Amino acid sequence: MQGVGFRPFVYRLARDLQLAGWVRNSPTGVEIEIEGSPADARRFLDRLRHEPPPRAVVRTVRTVQRPTEGGLPFEILKSGENRHAGGREILPDLATCAQCLREIFDPRNRRYRYPFTNCTACGPRFSIVHAVPYDRVNTTMRDFEMCGRCRAEYENPADRRFHAQPNACPVCGPRLMFADTAGHRAIEEAARAIRAGQLVAVKGIGGFHLFADARNGRALARLRDLKSRPDKPMAVMFPSLRSARRACHINPREAAILASPAAPIVLVARRLPCHFPAGLAPGTPSLGVMLPYSPLHHLLMFQLQGPVVATSGNLDGEPICTGNREAHERLANIADGFLTHDRPIARAVDDSVVRVVAGRETVLRRARGYAPAPITIPKPVPPILAVGGDLKNTIALSSGNQVFLSQHHGDLATAAAHDSFARHLRDFPELCHASPRAVACDLHPGYHGTILADSQPLPVIRVQHHHAHLAACLAENGLGEEVLGVAWDGTGFGTDATIWGGEFLLATMSSFERFALLRPFPLPGGELAVREPRRTALGLLHEAGINAAETGLAAAFSGEELKILGTVLHRGLNVPRTSSAGRLFDAVAALLGVRHRCSYEGQAAVELESLVSPGGPPESYPFSTNAGPPLVIDWEPAVRAVLADLQAGASPATVAARFHQTMVEIIVEIAHRAGRSKVAMSGGCFQNRHLIETAVIRLQKEGFEPVWHRHVPPNDGGLALGQVIVASSALSTTT
Ligand code: ZN
Ligand code: ZN
Ligand code: FE
Repeated sequence: MQGVGFRPFVYRLARDLQLAGWVRNSPTGVEIEIEGSPADARRFLDRLRHEPPPRAVVRTVRTVQRPTEGGLPFEILKSGENRHAGGREILPDLATCAQCLREIFDPRNRRYRYPFTNCTACGPRFSIVHAVPYDRVNTTMRDFEMCGRCRAEYENPADRRFHAQPNACPVCGPRLMFADTAGHRAIEEAARAIRAGQLVAVKGIGGFHLFADARNGRALARLRDLKSRPDKPMAVMFPSLRSARRACHINPREAAILASPAAPIVLVARRLPCHFPAGLAPGTPSLGVMLPYSPLHHLLMFQLQGPVVATSGNLDGEPICTGNREAHERLANIADGFLTHDRPIARAVDDSVVRVVAGRETVLRRARGYAPAPITIPKPVPPILAVGGDLKNTIALSSGNQVFLSQHHGDLATAAAHDSFARHLRDFPELCHASPRAVACDLHPGYHGTILADSQPLPVIRVQHHHAHLAACLAENGLGEEVLGVAWDGTGFGTDATIWGGEFLLATMSSFERFALLRPFPLPGGELAVREPRRTALGLLHEAGINAAETGLAAAFSGEELKILGTVLHRGLNVPRTSSAGRLFDAVAALLGVRHRCSYEGQAAVELESLVSPGGPPESYPFSTNAGPPLVIDWEPAVRAVLADLQAGASPATVAARFHQTMVEIIVEIAHRAGRSKVAMSGGCFQNRHLIETAVIRLQKEGFEPVWHRHVPPNDGGLALGQVIVASSALSTTT
């Protein structure tokens, strides 16, 4: 049977008879599942045949008996949508759709200038959900009783707001406030404050932002100072794609992502000369750009008619503020004004960050607009909860051949971040409709997730950090075979209890063998070296037997410091050794004088990458490989060549380009040695667009098939997916 309005008819009929179940379109017709008493089921079938809506014809009805499912309220599913295998999915928050946008700018519409307008195609979801099923009573909209007109829309299957859970209007919905002003005046007042150079906290979809006029250098400097965030680039919200294009180069792929329902921050190239204050994104030619994604943002940006810095409303390192009182307390010393409203936020969801790499979207921070949408994996796996890593934390939970990946929780170093992580670990299984049979975590004994995993009753499966990175990459690319995996990042605990990070693993989704690594070197001061690339460089030179005092690096230290660190290195006091590629990039940045101390993670690598200008492939530096297994790649010839280049007066840009090329040639060389056709690249180093794009081109030229990330971050934000994948095979071989 087919026909217009058939599914709404089935829906009304089922609700009428108080039957549970669902209806959906399928390639063979309409599929319906009902659950109720035999008498009601017969009545349903009878009326289905005899009372179809006009223009609909019922040709045949085939029925089968199935076990009951637990009586979830009847609903209309999208074709192909499934509510059993982890179904009843909670969708990510979606940016305002074109129809809703037209309504809020239409003076004749009842939602004119109403900042909480939405429909089934747009609006908040994940950020307002307390519990499943996704019904209004389980959202932060439960205290807003719909007015007659909103309820009529909500109940009319033909309306675009049919079952739009956050449906609201100016009569019955949430209200906006700025100090003592309400409604649209609040937006006008907030815009006036921003234009006057003030810092305004704006309650958005997944938390508070701090807004400042992006063209006002003084406001920007004050924001950086108050947030204790001296250098980390800040994102800019533009009123429209057109205005963003005046300041940045935005290609069609990037434009499509900016305008997508996920509406993330997209890292794009700035136009030069750049008219923004220097403090906006120092040390990098790119800029994080976003467009308004809620009616509130659209209305505010329309008032402002210019770009604003939109940085998350928090102290650096802490989770984004979500509650009104919390924001007033925590942001009291930063914000001059608060544009807030009375629709609570159920969970903190940051802006996502995306970069187009080799022509393809790569998600670097997966949060609003993406989480908690599942990643489809090649084979079904048992339900496993993975706790991820300590930096850029996300958690994951498998259900059949889907893995739900949580939003970014940030670094678990602060108590507030740790709390939100622990809370989410408790409610994620319920939201995803799966009860885990095991918990997967990192090998690192000191990670917060590892400690938490050990403290609960389920079996715990530990997964090596770099194997998890690669398993995530293989899983999202659907690759079952063994590949050469290049896992390059800052730090990860190795199976030999040393710090890994420059690894080449022969890897599948279930096992790995360490095929090659970068020659390890000492990090004087351990963690301190992560924040001070100058220390890392000193460790590197020490390992190579090069006297730092005879290089330019000496200028980064006082004579006293140099003496003390020399002793520390010789005696081996608190000098862990690492094979980390991330630290090697840091060390080279320090040798070039680009960055000696970092104020945010990855700063040295970001600035080193920024130096490289596009152009033909530069020469690469020599390196050697020592006999394996595992093969050890010796960077010493390259480091000596870097120093010689610098001594000969080569520019840092030239040296940076040659060093990047060297790292790519190392990948190509090991790929030849390993002899696997596919080469997968994962780990934080592969956020470096220049590195990955060059590696992709070189590997393809040599006949290899490069594989890299798209939906899942290459950094530690992707670990949880990899942990689920590796743990699932461990679980199925032990049970
Ligand atoms: Zn809409
Ligand atoms: Zn209403
Ligand atoms: Fe990592």
